[in-house]
Amino acid sequence: MLKKLARWLRIFGAKTDFIPSTMRDSQILKMMREKKNRSKILLTQDVQLHERAKLKGFQSFLVPREVPVEEQVAAVLKEFSLSLDDFPANTLCPSCNGELRIAKKSEVKGKVHENVYKAHRKFWLCGKCGKAYWEGTHWERIGEAAKRVNRLLREKE
Ligand SMILES: [Zn+2]
Repeated sequence: MLKKLARWLRIFGAKTDFIPSTMRDSQILKMMREKKNRSKILLTQDVQLHERAKLKGFQSFLVPREVPVEEQVAAVLKEFSLSLDDFPANTLCPSCNGELRIAKKSEVKGKVHENVYKAHRKFWLCGKCGKAYWEGTHWERIGEAAKRVNRLLREKE
């Protein structure tokens, strides 16, 4: 359910792990107890899980249901006093949280579709999974989404 939110949070620079919905609540809470996860915040739409996590002293946030993903993103950013001030410089790979770096065009040859390669100049590569990104139509969509999120952040102040 929250996979989309996770991808957007990464795009906006927040490192986000995604927990598959097959994982049981007890497993999730056990995972939260691990040292490497101590500083992480649980994002869930499950009221029961949220309450249980809070009781155990973990940071948890109940993500609003049935609203567009931009509203969910804005709610999360607002709750944790985050902004889009560093966007897009801080954008993380939406698939794996890896850092993106500007790539030379020659580096992405063979990694992207021939048409994409021909049509674009600006490319990025993920330092972790090696996925290539470019300033195409989806980048425009991302910019539009960022504007909507910013508007929502200002509205709710
Ligand atoms: Zn990646």
